[in-house]
Amino acid sequence: MKKNHKYIFVIGGVMSGVGKGITSSSIGTILQSMGFKTNLVKVDPYLNVDAGTMNPTEHGEVFVLNSGLETDQDMGNYERFLNRDLSNADYMTSGMIYKHVIDKERALGFKGKCIDADNIRDEIIDRVENAAKVNKSDISVIEIGGTVGDYQNVMFIEAARVLKVRHPDDVLFIMVSFLPIPNKLGEMKSKPTQNAIRQLNSYGVQTDIVIARSELPLDAKRKEKIALSCSVPIGNVVSAPDIDSIYDVPLNFERDLLGEMIAKELSLPKRTPDLSDWKSFVNKVKGAKKEVNIAVVGKYFDTGDFVLSDAYVSVIEAVKFSAYHFGAKAKLTWLNSKDFEKDPKSVSMLKKFDGVIVPGGFGSNGIEGVIRSIKYVRENKIPYLGLCYGMQLAVIEYARNVLGYKDANTAEIDPASKHLIIDIMAEQKKHLANGNYGASMRLGAYPAVLKKGTIAAEAYGTPKVMERHRHRYEVNQPFIAELEEAGLVFSATSPDRHLMEIAELPRQTKSNPDGHPFFLGSQFHPEFHARPLSPHPLFNAFIKASLARKGK
Ligand code: GLN
Repeated sequence: MKKNHKYIFVIGGVMSGVGKGITSSSIGTILQSMGFKTNLVKVDPYLNVDAGTMNPTEHGEVFVLNSGLETDQDMGNYERFLNRDLSNADYMTSGMIYKHVIDKERALGFKGKCIDADNIRDEIIDRVENAAKVNKSDISVIEIGGTVGDYQNVMFIEAARVLKVRHPDDVLFIMVSFLPIPNKLGEMKSKPTQNAIRQLNSYGVQTDIVIARSELPLDAKRKEKIALSCSVPIGNVVSAPDIDSIYDVPLNFERDLLGEMIAKELSLPKRTPDLSDWKSFVNKVKGAKKEVNIAVVGKYFDTGDFVLSDAYVSVIEAVKFSAYHFGAKAKLTWLNSKDFEKDPKSVSMLKKFDGVIVPGGFGSNGIEGVIRSIKYVRENKIPYLGLCYGMQLAVIEYARNVLGYKDANTAEIDPASKHLIIDIMAEQKKHLANGNYGASMRLGAYPAVLKKGTIAAEAYGTPKVMERHRHRYEVNQPFIAELEEAGLVFSATSPDRHLMEIAELPRQTKSNPDGHPFFLGSQFHPEFHARPLSPHPLFNAFIKASLARKGK
């Protein structure tokens, strides 16, 4: 950690879900664009040791870092906004902290001392300081999960308060609050925000800057009310009305000179942000006219649109970035694979889409409907991208309908099948037998080598890639040769060639009219590496093929 390292704590007021993660990400983007080395830290109050065991339809996507750490989806936003990979130092949960402290106590690591809440607080401070050190940064932006007033996050606020006592000039508190406009009143109310700021005061913490989220912009009167009642300088109340795209947020904040405001509060040198890259991305978003229609076929889509977009946020963003890359905007349609089980013929509705994605998933629910969809898009030459489970199921479909193994399956669904095209990985068996589900999958970035002349190799343009994984099952070795003879191409494997990383079908060309315009599935999750300023090559290739189909 550098001398005079700066810490910015972002805390939620009034209620959750008003964009604390995007605010933190945007602050990071702005400070980085001012030439300050900035790191972002997410602090989650839940007792899960990581996010890996949480149901994505309830808690949102599990985002996987290169290291394999399974984290909250906000970490995905941080990587997308900062345009770089984050590490374990940048994420913590209460469970992680308590476990560490208790394990250390059991190992006599505290040398006979009485351990109490102060040790938890100190562990949090250590981790926040360590993140600054690991990132060699000038400024850390630390987002505290939950909302002020939650008893679950009190320890984190306490840690922040103590840091401020130790470094009075180097710690800043930003509250992301919400101002409702109740229908019946038709008037924006600032009282809940005033109360939230006062509640934070009761912990000994004074808010320095308020990001006031609302449906509409804040007027001078509301700003003044908040300023006077809560001792926040009036110029530090930032209006943050609803906007169409989250990627507009850094530019909107900059219009209110948030970067300069933070720099002034922290006595940082005066610098002007350079958001030109970001601006040209946002211009692409605004300029995208033609539409590319992508269907996402999956199994747990009975929970409503809101949850879905949270559960697959990285996939959605990856598709959008690649569409913008080609001057198009992506329209995603969520299809419940169970509908194709009830009415098999209805699968032909897939022909109205420009491309089809089957994303990652677990278990047997709706899987026959997914396999039916894959058969349809393979036979009808509709661009297909399979992500993890979507790759495994594509290989099973091929084995069933091209090799003729009607009972082909994955051990995840039918371990008794004679044709286990997808089998459990050797090292995973003991984890399942011992009921060890936490952080035990094959997780994180591993290398894959690409086969020359394939769609994958051409898309990436390099012979070797590192991509992030999260799976327990793999393509079963004994069937590989047969599948290849039948025409499936394994265009990427682990360097030792044991693990099949990408399966694809030969491309349709003039000399190969029977080929497919784009049929590719990856065992890894490319979506975790897709960024607004660097869209992912596989998603690019998929969208390119989808746009070509649209043009026909
Ligand atoms: N269920 C499959 C496996 O564990 C796929 C996992 C995924 O899609 N992330 O291998």
